This record gives sequence, C-alpha cells and structure tokens, in this order.
Amino acid sequence: MVEPTVAKKAVIIGAGIGGLATAAQLVQKGFDVTVLEKNARIGGRLSGFSAEGYTFDAGPTILLMPGVLDEFFLRLGKRRQDYLDFVPVEPVSRIHFGPGDAPLELSADVAKMKSNLAAFSPSDSKNYERYLAKSKTYYDAALSAFLQANVHRVTDFLRPSVISAFAQIGLSGSYWDHVCRYFEDPRIRAAFSFQSIYVGASPRDIPAAYGLIQYVEATQGAWSVPGGLHRIASVMADVAQKGGVNIQTGKKVKQIRLEKNKVIGVDLFDGSFVPADLVVSNADLPYSYAHLLPQKSSPVQQRKLEPSCSAFMMYLGVKRKLPIGPHTFLLPSDFISSLEALFHDKRLPLNPGIYLNCPSKLFPEMAPKNGDALYVLVPVPNLQAASIDWKTQKKGQTQVSLFRQLVLDKINDWLHLDLKESDIAFERIVTPADWQDQYSLEWGSTFGLSPTLQQSAFFRPQNRDPRVKNLYFVGGSTHPGSGIPIVLFSANNVVQRIVDENPSGIPG
Ligand SMILES: Cc1cc2nc3c(=O)[nH]c(=O)nc-3n(C[C@H](O)[C@H](O)[C@H](O)COP(=O)(O)OP(=O)(O)OC[C@H]3O[C@@H](n4cnc5c(N)ncnc54)[C@H](O)[C@@H]3O)c2cc1C
Repeated sequence: MVEPTVAKKAVIIGAGIGGLATAAQLVQKGFDVTVLEKNARIGGRLSGFSAEGYTFDAGPTILLMPGVLDEFFLRLGKRRQDYLDFVPVEPVSRIHFGPGDAPLELSADVAKMKSNLAAFSPSDSKNYERYLAKSKTYYDAALSAFLQANVHRVTDFLRPSVISAFAQIGLSGSYWDHVCRYFEDPRIRAAFSFQSIYVGASPRDIPAAYGLIQYVEATQGAWSVPGGLHRIASVMADVAQKGGVNIQTGKKVKQIRLEKNKVIGVDLFDGSFVPADLVVSNADLPYSYAHLLPQKSSPVQQRKLEPSCSAFMMYLGVKRKLPIGPHTFLLPSDFISSLEALFHDKRLPLNPGIYLNCPSKLFPEMAPKNGDALYVLVPVPNLQAASIDWKTQKKGQTQVSLFRQLVLDKINDWLHLDLKESDIAFERIVTPADWQDQYSLEWGSTFGLSPTLQQSAFFRPQNRDPRVKNLYFVGGSTHPGSGIPIVLFSANNVVQRIVDENPSGIPG
C-alpha cells in the first residue's frame, strides 16, 4: 500500500508582502501554510488606513517595476489585471530646490526628461542618455546575478554573471560617485541620487549599482494603485486565503522554538505553541535574530548589522484642495551635507528633505469632496541616535511637536500652501519609536538593513539561517533587499530554496 503523503507544515511569521507572497506560493506547491501576524491588519509596512473620509498608505506610495507583480500572479496561474489596476504617474514627481523655485519635473519619457534638464543645465542634459546607459548595465547585472536568484552556494559565487556583476558593484564607487561622473549641477545631482532614500541610505554610502532604482523609475515609470498601494497586500492576502493559506491576525510570536539545530515550531505570547516542519520569518531579520531566537545561536548575530535611517511621518486629512501633484520632493540645497548630518552625525536635520504624497490627486475617492489626503515623509536618524528623544516633554513641548512645526513651516514656505491648523481635519504622526513598536523594526529603521556594500548581494544576510536547516527568512532585510518588487524577488527566491531543500514537502 502506498503511504499517503502528508503536506509539510510551514509557519510564516508576519503578513507583510514578503510573508504573503511566500505563503501564496508555498500553498500552491503543496505545503500546509499558516501565517501568524501580530497586528490586527495584514500588510505590514504595505498596509493602509482610513479615518474621517481620508485614506492613506502607511508606507509605500511609489510602485516601481510593476512587471514583477504581474509575474507573481502568473506564478499562481492568474492575471494581475483581474485583481489590480496599475496607473502610471506622469510626471513621476516634482522636485523643489528652494522656496518658490520652479520645480524640476522627473519624467519617464526620456526626450521630455532631457528637455526638462536642459532648462536647469544644458551640459548636464546632454549626458542624460549616457548616464542612463551606464545605469542600465547595473540594472541588467543585478537583475540576472543577484535579484532573481539565490546566491548562497560556492557554485553561485562562481557563476560568470555573478563575478562580473560583483566586479561592477564593488569597483564602481558609490551611487553618488556614479551620479557625479555625469552631472555637475548640484540640483541635478540631488534629483538623481535622492532615490537612495527609498532604501534608507545616503547615496554616498551605497554602491553605484543602486543607481538602478532611479533607472527603473526613469525608464519604466512610477505606478500607483486606485485606493492606495496597500490594496496590493489585501489582494495578495485574499488570493493566498482562497488558495488555502490560514492567515491569523493578532498573533504575536514570542520565540522560534529550536531543538538542537532544528526548528520545531513557534511559541506565541498568548501561551500557545504552533508546531512546524519549517518556519519562515517575515518579521524583520535583525528583530528575528534579536528577539525570536536564542542569542548567539547564529553567525549572523555575531555580525554588526547596519540599520537604515528612520522616517518621521505625518498623515494629514486636509479640508481643502492643495496646489500640488501626487509626488513632491523638497530637497535642500546642501542635499549631500544634510545627509551627512542625518546618517553619520545622527542629528535631526534643520533643513530636512521632505517627500509629500497626495494620493487624492490621482484618486479623489481617497479624500472627502474638496479635501486632500496628504502624506508627509521626512527621513530622520534611527533610534541609535541617542540624543533624539521623541517621547519626553521639555518646556511644554516635545521633540515631536517641535519637528512637526519645523516641517509644516518648511512645506508652507517652499510650496506656498498656506496650510493652517484649521485646515487639518485629521492628523496622525508616526516616529521612529512607532516604527519599532508597530512593525518590529530594530532601531526603528524604517527600511530595514541598510544596503551598504557589506550588506548587499551575497554579503546581505541570506534567506536561510546558516546553521538551522528549516529556518528561512523573507523580506526587506534579507537578500536581495528592500522595496516591493525586491521583496517579491525575496519571496520567489525563498520559495525556490524551500522547494529545493524539502522535496518531500510536495505531496503526490
Ligand atoms: C514609510 C515607508 C515608505 C516606503 N515607500 C516605498 C515605496 O514607495 N515603494 C516601495 O517599493 N517600497 C517602499 N517602502 C519599503 C517597503 O514598504 C518594504 O520594503 C516592504 O513593505 C517590506 O515588506 P516585508 O514583508 O519585508 O516586511 P513588513 O512589511 O515589515 O512585514 C513584516 C510583518 O511581520 C509582522 N511581525 C513582526 N514581528 C512579529 C511577531 N513577533 N509575530 C508576528 N508577526 C510579526 C509585522 O507586524 C509585519 O506585518 C517603504 C517603506 C516605508 C516604511
């Protein structure tokens, strides 16, 4: 008699996009999948909320490389178009360099972009296509060598594509060097390198290869989703559940239980134990090692991990229409030195860079009639900055209230919005301490581990613990990195690895 095959039980900690994308694929491969999420809502950083008629994304607002999501649905035998609409945003964004200045519009149309640049610097404009061509080599190399593949075996390191990609990444200097080789105008240098903040780093501190972020934005465009990007996570959770995944919210994992060098399940804060044949932690990797695993059980814990920056957020429900587009950036004239203060001196910038997202410009239903939803993101030092106290009150004011006022003043000064307290119908503020508490991000590092050279490609913590054979990781702080499409690659890669390493997990 043939023994019936019992599906292997996979427990996934966290319902961020990494956890959800892994769950949806693993269940299709025949695993019995449970997702345990500590928060009441799914999506992690890719979640959203509505209040008083205003709808906000909590984190991501710019969808790059939308084809990666199309491919995710195809992997499940589905068409993305049957679930989600993607809307291109053009111009991609408006960049302001000072109060009342004419903005530089970033465009995904190369000819238009060249003419926009010419108004700022004719000589820089001439270099634009050569710059894009070089950035494309980084994109092509990273895509084939690192992003879409596991790189953990010696044979992976020896693949010619990996050797040549690594030579390019390691030998081309920083992302800032890459931009400065083609452009002289400080405003254009800033406009093509601030995208490093999308992954929480200064362009001076990360390899030139990260120029690929700006390259995909400049050539494939920036996209949005009606109702907000968080709908991607909701749809993904629906698809996963319909496929048979058991998603439980309000379930905080206390520890991953090990027996010798093997995971046997997870303990929850509610006192229950969930057994598992394998565990995938989608909780951010530094947090997973610091809080869910015994200290010093892994070589990863002995490494000094470098966190990304954090973000100070204001989500404002504004009672009137604002004269701005969907994506607006305010970049200080001393852009690169202000980043030095933020990343190296860990000081709060006095003249901070600010990103404004106004989703109701694209989708009016995201705000009441005649109102606008305004999302304000300011990169700030993570909680390693001991001198910044976000909680304590001094002389009747907190750091939060002081910084909030500085940010509002700057927005009003630069964009002439005349935004008054009486215009604000709803307000929520999120500080680095909140990122830490709400999403288990160590040091409140909003974008997870920083993508420095030492934490990129095969130096980034990989998606399986080096010692524990049935403990996997998925998400922004593991290989290959942060951002929606890149975390989807992380999910694809970990699923591939799990299937390769657990052939008996597939029944029939
Ligand atoms: C403000 C902001 C703006 C961003 N903008 C963009 C953008 O425009 N475009 C883009 O592509 N990317 C952007 N990103 C990055 C993107 O959001 C992330 O890379 C991605 O969402 C990370 O997904 P994840 O699955 O790795 O982790 P997470 O979304 O952090 O998911 C991890 C989940 O694990 C849960 N969890 C943690 N600990 C436990 C526990 N003990 N028990 C149970 N559950 C637990 C958490 O609650 C969370 O739901 C932005 C991020 C932020 C914060």
